[in-house]
Amino acid sequence: GARARAKVLLATVKGDVHDIGKNIVGVVLGCNDYEVLDLGVMVPAERILAAAREHAVDAIGVSGLITPSLDEMVHVARELERAGMTTPLLIGGATTSKVHTAVRIAPAYSAPVVHVLDASRSVPTVSALVSAEQRDAFAAEVAAEYEEVRDRYAARNRTQTLLPLAAARANRLALDWDAAPITPPKRPGVTPFTDVTVADLRPFIDWGPFFIAWELKGKYPQLLDDARVGAQARQLLDDANALLDRAEAEGLLTPRGVAGLFAAHAEGDDLAVFSEHGERVATFHTLRQQTAKTPGKPNRALADFVAPAESGRTDALGAFVVSIHGAEALAARFRADHDDYHAILTQALADRLAEAFAEYLHARVRKDLWGYAPDENLSNDDLVRERYRGIRPAPGYPAQPDHTEKVALFRLLDAETHAGAGLTEHLAMTPPATVCGLYFAHPEAAYFNLGPLGRDQIEDYARRKGMAVEEVERWLAPALAYEPAAAPSGDGAMTPPVARV
Ligand code: SAH
Repeated sequence: GARARAKVLLATVKGDVHDIGKNIVGVVLGCNDYEVLDLGVMVPAERILAAAREHAVDAIGVSGLITPSLDEMVHVARELERAGMTTPLLIGGATTSKVHTAVRIAPAYSAPVVHVLDASRSVPTVSALVSAEQRDAFAAEVAAEYEEVRDRYAARNRTQTLLPLAAARANRLALDWDAAPITPPKRPGVTPFTDVTVADLRPFIDWGPFFIAWELKGKYPQLLDDARVGAQARQLLDDANALLDRAEAEGLLTPRGVAGLFAAHAEGDDLAVFSEHGERVATFHTLRQQTAKTPGKPNRALADFVAPAESGRTDALGAFVVSIHGAEALAARFRADHDDYHAILTQALADRLAEAFAEYLHARVRKDLWGYAPDENLSNDDLVRERYRGIRPAPGYPAQPDHTEKVALFRLLDAETHAGAGLTEHLAMTPPATVCGLYFAHPEAAYFNLGPLGRDQIEDYARRKGMAVEEVERWLAPALAYEPAAAPSGDGAMTPPVARV
């Protein structure tokens, strides 16, 4: 045509390693005749800026999975503003939201900033933003919508009642520790798992999220018979199984994991962890729900699920890290053959296998290593529905949104040696198909959403962790119920803390 194809830059931001969604967006845009410049993962703002200028791109899309990436995106927006750029900025990835985009990112950049919910929305969005006729009207429409989102957000913040930390603590979940069943771990200490195979893990795969990753909407397995997408879903599942067969036969994907079980007790909202010789080997810090609850509902913290020191009972706590190695090399091989489909399939399957490994290991822990449920016999469906005793909450998830807790967890298990797993500067886990968490065994242990946190708790938490308040505020930015006083978030400098015992 008369005009050159529009160019879109894509990048997963600094400190983050997840790019399945971004890669799907890249393919979808490519198929719709856009020129895609994909900078890959862990891309600092300076590189995004330099490449956007050098290639005169028409739009920039940034992506991320973990919450620190939200802050990094604010930083990218600020840097684009500082450089006087006018290129539209698209925001995508699992952790992003329209609210965060409207409240934190859009105000930092005068050019259009648009949250793109899924890959299929990327084409109409980019098309409107690069069209001379549509751009201004579209940008005005988005700006007006985001103004409304900001107003609603501010109104909600004004009406929510936060308890003082002491009052929230007084309303803790009070379990009966005299009666609580406590099983000392049968195999205490750190246990590496190096001989688990892809074949062992396949029966533990939860296929639901696999189809979500591909934006095939619907519930698995009914999805396979869906009138509209059933045939595509079946094709995808067949291709996935063929690739798993190959991975199994040729040893292309290697599971490596580690679990640890320790004596432990709660000290206030912290969890003290001990070696078999009674030395303190780690401290985990938990955060407590602080919004006012209806009568009878507790203000929970994960620490409530472990016997406190005062109970006189010795409780236990576990931790795990599991990784799938080899997916990046395999995906790179497919990409070199221009087979983006199998490259993305590889990444999606590695993620599924990592979650399956977590499920498999948790079952082994309940039945053998910890041994509090020796007779458990659950189907894959039961496991997916979490019909077992105990939970495995993950740092960075709603019950404990603080990613910095991974530092202590990785150190306690020596996850680098035993699972080949690492942490980026923003505490994303490598390889990207890695899952970690703590194990709680109390029958009443359950997942919950922490909700917004007050300054009093952040100050208390910072003291307990030996971190500066501003530093904690930066890591927990999306969870704060208030505007931090000091240096606004998004200066792009987050330093993971050192693990303390
Ligand atoms: N079957 C799913 C399992 C992963 S999602 C899959 O294959 O994808 C569920 C996991 O997310 C839990 O095991 C736990 O590790 C984490 N999780 C979910 N809700 C949580 C919460 N509120 N707090 C902490 N971790 C949570």
